[in-house]
Amino acid sequence: MKYIPKPHQIKKYLDKHIIGQNLAKKTLAVAVYNHYKRLFIYQKSNIKLEKSNILIIGPTGSGKTLLAKTLSKFLNVPFVLTDATSLTEAGYVGEDVENIIHKLLQECNYDIEKAQHGIVYIDEIDKIARKADNVSITRDVSGEGVQQSLLKLIEGTISAIPPKGGRKHPQQEFLYVNTNEILFICGGAFNNIEEIVKKRIRRKNYIGFNAKMYDKDYLNSNILQNIQTEDLIEFGLIPEFIGRLPVITNLNSLSVMDFISILHNTKNSLIKQYEMLFEVENIKLKFKTEAVYEISKKAMKLNLGARGLKSILEKILINTMYKTPFRNDIYKIIINKFVILNNELPEIIKK
Ligand code: ADP
Repeated sequence: MKYIPKPHQIKKYLDKHIIGQNLAKKTLAVAVYNHYKRLFIYQKSNIKLEKSNILIIGPTGSGKTLLAKTLSKFLNVPFVLTDATSLTEAGYVGEDVENIIHKLLQECNYDIEKAQHGIVYIDEIDKIARKADNVSITRDVSGEGVQQSLLKLIEGTISAIPPKGGRKHPQQEFLYVNTNEILFICGGAFNNIEEIVKKRIRRKNYIGFNAKMYDKDYLNSNILQNIQTEDLIEFGLIPEFIGRLPVITNLNSLSVMDFISILHNTKNSLIKQYEMLFEVENIKLKFKTEAVYEISKKAMKLNLGARGLKSILEKILINTMYKTPFRNDIYKIIINKFVILNNELPEIIKK
């Protein structure tokens, strides 16, 4: 990278693709700017600034992966998406953490220089917490082990990667990748962490004999912005691991209004994508405002965040998408609210 975009430029680009989540977008823009600036500072003055990997906490379908992916696209750096639950401690059966770096190399045709400036998004990082009431109950030990094996990688190490991936053999020649400049973004829903934060805030207030109790509404609305390292430790992340993720930000649950915006206003919005699919066949696809509203309300009930929007759209359009390719008499397809509410077929206007 010859030029590092400024935080406001990064944010502006993110705004085109990601609805809401303003604070997170700002935090990420600054963190990413600083991350790549470190390299320039090091080249100029030989001063090594500490690395700032990022932790994003937010419910499913709120845009964590999309943020990481969009950043890499804007910066034109290779991107790898991986899932913490698929990783294992070194030596166990499963995916070695170094495999992440191998995937990054594959993304840029084994150009080591490029890979060293890539972005890695590790999803479901909360699932490798060591607490027993977590999904990983049968592997709580290895959960902590995975955190241990990720430490070096995300902090910065020289990773020896067998050129064809897979297991290491003693006589094999390795590719050496320095992970010091790779930006690691970890994300997770951290279900119920709100309770841990609330408990801490209340406890601290009692212990300090502080008369002021936090306002109940305040506790409910802003709670995730108050997350501190100790809450994440209580959740089950080990301190050394959190120490390597100094930038922590959170995403809000999306509202019905956000869903409407996601359907319409983003650069590659879902509605635009479906319109394109029909346009190829010279058919106009029109979503009435009332339909967009009903889709958004339905998505809210699914509790999958914006992820629910796509599954609803697929469902309501499946029959139409099946039929239209062998019909050449259709001019326009109109989706009204009854298509969503009563599973009615869309209105078809013939040529
Ligand atoms: P997660 O938070 O679970 O990683 P994703 O980023 O994978 O969620 O979101 C799933 C899909 O939902 C995205 O591909 C995108 O289409 C949509 N989406 C989620 N959040 C947003 C958002 N804030 N703005 C625009 N689209 C979003």
